[in-house]
Amino acid sequence: QATIEVNGLRKRFGQTTALDGMSFTVTPGQVTGFVGPNGAGKSTTMRVILGLDAADEGHALIGGQPYISLRNPLTHVGALLDAGALQPSRTARNHLLWLAHSQGLNGRRVDEVLQQVGMQSASRRKASGFSLGMRQRLGIAAALLGDPPVLMLDEPVNGLDPEGIVWMRGFLRSLAGEGRAVLVSSHLMSELEDTADRLVVVGKGRVIADTSVADLITTA
Ligand code: ADP
Ligand code: ADP
Repeated sequence: QATIEVNGLRKRFGQTTALDGMSFTVTPGQVTGFVGPNGAGKSTTMRVILGLDAADEGHALIGGQPYISLRNPLTHVGALLDAGALQPSRTARNHLLWLAHSQGLNGRRVDEVLQQVGMQSASRRKASGFSLGMRQRLGIAAALLGDPPVLMLDEPVNGLDPEGIVWMRGFLRSLAGEGRAVLVSSHLMSELEDTADRLVVVGKGRVIADTSVADLITTA
């Protein structure tokens, strides 16, 4: 069963065609790599799935429903879109508590998600002083607050040091191992080939290849 279903999305920004018939599905228990050059439409696709951009045509469903009709959306899907933009003046822990409460979630999971992303020791530091890598982790902690079965991460290894990249790879694998559907984008195939179970390769707003990584390796 598909937990993300993207079907025939089209989207223009003025003269620019961002999405030109984008279609794919994301299944539980797998890391699906969403790969393609900058400008291929990866972020726009994720924004449409999350209801942050409206498509001109087509539809995107999470667990069979459009985002806008989900009750308690954070319990259905978590997303890391632009961690670079996240610079709260609160401590990491207070930021998550505030986020949980503002989204109608209780604060019970805050310490658990901080631990999941390896940030317990930094939980009482101000997030505005965090490195990009720590902001990525905090952003992922936020995405996990509602314990959602679906996660979307846009270029999560951007700006990470080698140690952070290794951590991220293992962490994405563990999320899929828990049965979650994980969609992770990158403009570099090499960042995802060891992490993803499946690759959805995109260019110019549409899918140009959709294959399991195992098939890719055995046929190469
Ligand atoms: P990717 O995430 O693969 O780098 P994007 O989805 O960000 O690709 O962008 C797809 C295309 O849509 C690009 O040509 C980009 O410049 C354009 N685009 C994206 N968002 C906007 C916007 N808000 N206004 C105008 N053009 C946009
Ligand atoms: P607040 O949102 O004000 O921080 P919480 O919603 O976290 O308060 O709840 C306070 C206490 O109630 C917590 O310690 C938690 O153990 C308990 N609690 C809240 N919601 C549930 C739940 N759905 N199931 C079990 N215990 C809960």
